[in-house]
Amino acid sequence: MDLSVDIGGTKTLVAAFDEDSLVPREVLQFPTEPHRGFEDFLRRLTETGKKLLSGEQLRIWAISTAGAVDDDGNVLWSPNLGWKNLALKQAFSRFFGDKGFVENDCNAAAYAEAWVRGSKNLAYVTVSTGIGMGLVLEGKVYRGSHYAAGEIGHTIAEEEGPVCSCGRKGCLQAISSGRGLENLIQSLTGERLRCEDIFEKAKMRFEPYFQVVSHGAKVLARFLTNIVDTLDIEVLVLGGGLIKDEFYRSVLVEYVQRNYYMTPGKKISVELSQVQPNPGTVGVLLLSRQRFGGIV
Ligand SMILES: [Zn+2]
Repeated sequence: MDLSVDIGGTKTLVAAFDEDSLVPREVLQFPTEPHRGFEDFLRRLTETGKKLLSGEQLRIWAISTAGAVDDDGNVLWSPNLGWKNLALKQAFSRFFGDKGFVENDCNAAAYAEAWVRGSKNLAYVTVSTGIGMGLVLEGKVYRGSHYAAGEIGHTIAEEEGPVCSCGRKGCLQAISSGRGLENLIQSLTGERLRCEDIFEKAKMRFEPYFQVVSHGAKVLARFLTNIVDTLDIEVLVLGGGLIKDEFYRSVLVEYVQRNYYMTPGKKISVELSQVQPNPGTVGVLLLSRQRFGGIV
C-alpha cells in the first residue's frame, strides 16, 4: 500500500492507495492545528497513517504541504503552518521508512493536473483564503532558485492598492483572495461578511460588492493572462474555494479567454481542477512513485 498526505493550514488529509492505483482506497482527515506544535502534529499524523495501513506493508509514502520545500524534503518556511527549516522528510522517515517524497502542495497539484491531461506546460492556481500557484514546465515541476516559484499571492498588482497582511500595499492576495475581499468590504461598509455572502450580494449587482468582486477577479485574471502568455502555458487549471463561485469564476475565465495574446495556432485552455480527492495528494504520490520506481 502507498500513503499520501496533504498538509494544509486547516486540515490534513491522509489517503491510502493500492500500489497500482491513483484512486484512494480510503481517506482520513484531521484538523492540522499547527499551534499544538510539530511533535504533536507528527504523532497525530503517524497514528492516522498506521490506522490506514492496519497492519499492511507500506511501499512508499508522499507528503504535499503548504510552504517552500527543498530537494531534501525540508520545509524552509510556511506562514500557514508556522514552520521554518523543518526536516519533514526526516521526521516522517523515522516512522515510515525513507522511501518518501515531500513537495509543495501547489507544485504537487500542478503535477497531478498536468499528468492526467498529458500536458507539458501547465499552471495550477488555487484561490481561497490566499492565492497560490504551481507550475509544470517542459513536463517537470518548476521550483525556482529558492523553492518559491509560484508564490504569486504577494506580487504587487496595484501600486496604491489595499494594505496586505505582509505589510505592503497592493498585493494580489489583498485584492483578489477570499480574505482580501472580506477585508475590502469591511473597510468600505464596516461589516464583516463571509466571502459567500459577499458573492451573493455581488451576483445581485449590489454595490460596493459587485464592484469589489468584479475588480478582484479581473485583477487576478489579468495577472494570470500575463503569466500564461509569458510562459506560453497550454492549460491554466483553477482550483480552490472561490473558483466554486460561478460569478467570480466566470469573470476570471472570460477575461483570460478574451485577453490572452493570440498568435497563429496558439490556444490556451482554462479548466477546472479534475483530480480527486485533492490534486496535491495525487501529484506528490506520482512524484514519489517515479522516484522510487513504483507503478505509475
Ligand atoms: Zn502581501
